[in-house]
Amino acid sequence: MDIINILPDSVANQIAAGEVVDRPASAVKELLENAMDAGATDIQLIIKDAGRTLIQVIDNGCGMSDVDARLCFERHATSKIHRADDLFAIRTMGFRGEALASIAAVAQVELKTRQHEKELGSQVVIEGSEVKSQEPCTCSPGTSISVKNLFFNIPARRNFLKKDSIELSHIEEIFKRVALPNYKVGFSFYNNGRLLYDLKPGNFAQRIAGLFGSSFNQRLYHIEEHTEPVSLNGYIGKKEYAKRVRGEQYLFVNGRYIKHPGLSAAIEKAYTELIPERTYPAYFVMLDVDPQRIDVNIHPTKTEVRFIDESVIFSILRAATKKSLGQYTLANELEFNPSTEIDFTPISKGHIPDTPKESFNPNYNPFYATDVHEKHPGNHGGGRLDLDNFFGPKSSSNTEQRLAFDDNLSERQEEPISATTSSATTTPINYLNQYIITTLKSGMVVIDQQRAHERILYEKMMSRAIDGQASAQQLLFPVNCRFNAADSEVLMEIMPELERLGFVIDPLGQNTFVVTAAPHDTKEDELQNMLEQTINEYKNNMLQKFNDRNKSICLSLARQMAVHSGTALKVEEMQKLIADLFSCQAPNISPSGKRTMFIMGEQELKERFK
Ligand code: ADP
Ligand code: MG
Repeated sequence: MDIINILPDSVANQIAAGEVVDRPASAVKELLENAMDAGATDIQLIIKDAGRTLIQVIDNGCGMSDVDARLCFERHATSKIHRADDLFAIRTMGFRGEALASIAAVAQVELKTRQHEKELGSQVVIEGSEVKSQEPCTCSPGTSISVKNLFFNIPARRNFLKKDSIELSHIEEIFKRVALPNYKVGFSFYNNGRLLYDLKPGNFAQRIAGLFGSSFNQRLYHIEEHTEPVSLNGYIGKKEYAKRVRGEQYLFVNGRYIKHPGLSAAIEKAYTELIPERTYPAYFVMLDVDPQRIDVNIHPTKTEVRFIDESVIFSILRAATKKSLGQYTLANELEFNPSTEIDFTPISKGHIPDTPKESFNPNYNPFYATDVHEKHPGNHGGGRLDLDNFFGPKSSSNTEQRLAFDDNLSERQEEPISATTSSATTTPINYLNQYIITTLKSGMVVIDQQRAHERILYEKMMSRAIDGQASAQQLLFPVNCRFNAADSEVLMEIMPELERLGFVIDPLGQNTFVVTAAPHDTKEDELQNMLEQTINEYKNNMLQKFNDRNKSICLSLARQMAVHSGTALKVEEMQKLIADLFSCQAPNISPSGKRTMFIMGEQELKERFK
């Protein structure tokens, strides 16, 4: 009996499609690249529901003839190579002729295209590889492709898609990878009718500013080098802006985004000893290499490439980065001119902000002042130090406390700390500007100042988050912050929580926000970073099913606002910190679960002196 079947085309197409299109972002990538290859100077990306219901790309490129409009959906239909030799001189983004066939196999696609010299265009509707109609149509010159209901015929794949916010951030990342090197092309990007990016043609620096915010200008140095095997040009992050996560790291070869761990290492190596370990610089570097000396085809999605001259390119890249870091460490600031890029709703100069909603004391100092709104629910009435009440007989010195980061964090009841009223009169001692040493009835206490302050701030903020009685500080100069589109959505999502903590933040459109008030002790020039980090930690926590928004936000803010180790505190500041710490509900553990102090009792001291 014969058992071999030839798969019907539709099935074969679906299988093959899976390699090219695995999520909305990969369809976006293919459509944007086709528009670039068609020589477009203006490209619109319109999506609905993070690409689930609609992905549309409209370009003003060369358009297609009637025949090509039908043919482009055939597998291996490409205008970009004719002979096998052409493979080695590729300068276009696509060339395999698989993208449109794959997309048409797993979605309902409508194509409208018209060549500039023609009067009429052509419209093709194709669903699951099946052509439904083709007819002449009137349309603007160029091409518009709408991809509707991606994976409508593959429920398994459709169900596999992640939350909209995740799919959207993948799409946004693809958009950046295409828009960055193609800075001479105008791009706009809409999600659910909202304009997320509007990028005018300009230079590379302006494109970076358009995508990452004009404040990015102070974070970068220029880098440029022209040699035989490689020409490079771009921007690298100043060392003080290195981040603990690999963030904005972009490498392009001949205008195409690539991943190349080797070359990334070349850049990062240049920062060795300039930035702390496990922190990473931003970079936007474009390499120009003779296409004959690259093999782009080792990976089907083509973000990986191999260079014949890899080790030479490595050295040049590292040297150029070093040179730029050395050259610019003094003052040479990069000149951005974002004026054509960013359309902030201007805040008129000399504009005096409205009277604060909350009263505030400009002389407020967290270590001296008593906050009128401060409340510690169920604890020691208004957060005042009540020495007779909260010091119990037990010592926690021998309990190794390291809590897992979980939902029960602050619900865990800690053992009470023992002390004596005499501690109030002990003058605390600072050791290494990191530890505070004082005495309690039960012994000598060593407190980690940073962790202790985190605990204090965290509990203060949590009680504010719950009763909404934040004491805000009106900023003298409103601060504009800008985020990427996905982060902007998250910021909108956590806005109510932030407002309860004393932030006043208003969206200005295009992922830009103006902050007019913030909790006490926030530094204006750190706001952007602070919010960015809070958003990032919030996203991570949500992914790990840590679902308490308030906790996530307060935890992140407390960590960022706490006094750092190495800060010299005055005696009164130390006293205030000790008092505040012991009026916390869980004084001996930091909000991220680390020990804030240990106590060495009389017994233990005696042991040691035996
Ligand atoms: P590839 O890009 O690898 O050639 P695709 O399946 O992406 O394969 O596209 C097939 C062909 O359709 C392209 O080679 C090109 O001729 C044509 N095409 C696709 N998109 C466009 C567009 N936006 N404008 C003009 N022609 C296009
Ligand atoms: Mg293509």
